[in-house]
Amino acid sequence: MPTFSFIFTSILIFFSGQLRAQDTPPENHHEVVVIGGGLMGSAAAWQLARDGKEVILLEKQDHEYSQGSSKGLTRIARSNNLARDLWSYLHNRSVRETATLVNFLGNQGYATSMSAVYRTTPVSYMGRLKVADAVITSSERQKVDYKIALTPEEGAAMFGVQLPEGVFLQREFNEHSGTMNPEGLISLLHKAIKLKGGTIVYNTSVSDIQRHGNHYLIASEDQHGSERRFTASQVVSAAGPHTGPLLSELAPYMDKLITPKRVFLAFLQISPEKYHQLDDHARSQLKRAYPVINSSAGTRQGSFYSMFEYSDADGNPVIKIGGHFQRSDINNLEDVWNQKLSVEEIRWSIENTGRYLRMQGVPVNDEDLQLVDDVSCVYSLTRSEVPLVSQLVAPSGEMDSNFVVMAGMSGVGAKGAMTYGRIAANLLHQDKSENDPGYLEAVEAVGFTRLKEDVDKLHISLEK
Ligand SMILES: Cc1cc2nc3c(=O)[nH]c(=O)nc-3n(C[C@H](O)[C@H](O)[C@H](O)COP(=O)(O)OP(=O)(O)OC[C@H]3O[C@@H](n4cnc5c(N)ncnc54)[C@H](O)[C@@H]3O)c2cc1C
Repeated sequence: MPTFSFIFTSILIFFSGQLRAQDTPPENHHEVVVIGGGLMGSAAAWQLARDGKEVILLEKQDHEYSQGSSKGLTRIARSNNLARDLWSYLHNRSVRETATLVNFLGNQGYATSMSAVYRTTPVSYMGRLKVADAVITSSERQKVDYKIALTPEEGAAMFGVQLPEGVFLQREFNEHSGTMNPEGLISLLHKAIKLKGGTIVYNTSVSDIQRHGNHYLIASEDQHGSERRFTASQVVSAAGPHTGPLLSELAPYMDKLITPKRVFLAFLQISPEKYHQLDDHARSQLKRAYPVINSSAGTRQGSFYSMFEYSDADGNPVIKIGGHFQRSDINNLEDVWNQKLSVEEIRWSIENTGRYLRMQGVPVNDEDLQLVDDVSCVYSLTRSEVPLVSQLVAPSGEMDSNFVVMAGMSGVGAKGAMTYGRIAANLLHQDKSENDPGYLEAVEAVGFTRLKEDVDKLHISLEK
């Protein structure tokens, strides 16, 4: 049985011979190969195709997105971000990029609208009073339309809630803040990529990438184990939690810079009997209470985010709840998606939801909350929790300007996905013409200078 490395070396020799002999790329050569069709890879492939690049997107899942960091129908999208305007920019620019996508699809005769991606609703933030001044200052600077209650009396008068002492409740009302639909956006992006002449190959898992001269050699396998090989002038790697192993040859440091974590989600519903007993006031309080980012407990353990995933035919919402600080280490990346929630995780989800609903004036007991689904998800974190969208650091320590990695997207990537896609495309074009301060701040925060510093701090040899 020939080993994989033997086979790959043969491929390498085959490709290199072909390139030298003909001085033209082989048949399976592409201007840009994008690896991974989640939010990031899809956004990058769309931007590249829109700019006229010949793009092929390789995705290991089927055309229905079923497993990855972008799984689900909702993510919180918000313009308001404590202290750092960076996140505000990433969201607002993504909204504008989504409008361009929607217009393009409309002009191509594919009827869609912003509501296929964004659901505008008030976004609630709860926290300890000691950060309220900073929240107000950020909100003013970020031009957020908001109201804030700083005392129990203000909470009752403004929002009809029973606010505990020492806690504030802020609501944001900007257009397109609320939730965004990651799977909906991926589906629009894939449609648009194809309309622009790009190719998407599903059920194709990239197993190896090598640099050879000015090209990259990419080996992949389909679900039946059949191999396919590609060469590319440029590559975008957007493999989410799989980035470290995927880039083990080209960027061995990546595995050390980003860490995949399990995060759980519980999907709860008020029992149908109880829901029917709720009066109009309680139902309207329920509707206005979500989505929420609740840090009012003042502990990481007590912090949670929660939103409606969908509503049933009676209008009874399925409430999704999780906690960024409920994350845990992963033993096996392939199996983690099948992991059930523990009894403690379910209890944590129910208790936090029940307490929050009662505070909002929705009269339910914890026993009225039923678990309708539970999901283990994965996202990857960088040490600073700020994502990476950067050219790779080559073995020489220089910039490899033809290879862009999008990774470490953590629990905040979705709302900025369309901006990250734009940044990735600009990096490959070496286009430095954008001079909006928000854009420049984003590129600096997620880009090469930072990656190089992070790699240097690892003190590892990049040369083989
Ligand atoms: C529970 C949870 C809650 C979140 N909440 C929010 C929120 O409220 N707001 C927000 O803004 N963000 C949120 N996020 C973050 C956001 O969803 C992620 O940052 C984003 O979805 C990451 O997208 P991605 O494309 O990097 O990764 P993925 O979606 O994982 O995409 C990677 C893709 O690459 C494919 N792939 C992997 N390996 C290979 C290979 N070898 N060959 C080919 N294809 C491959 C995978 O199949 C997958 O489709 C949350 C994330 C989670 C998990």
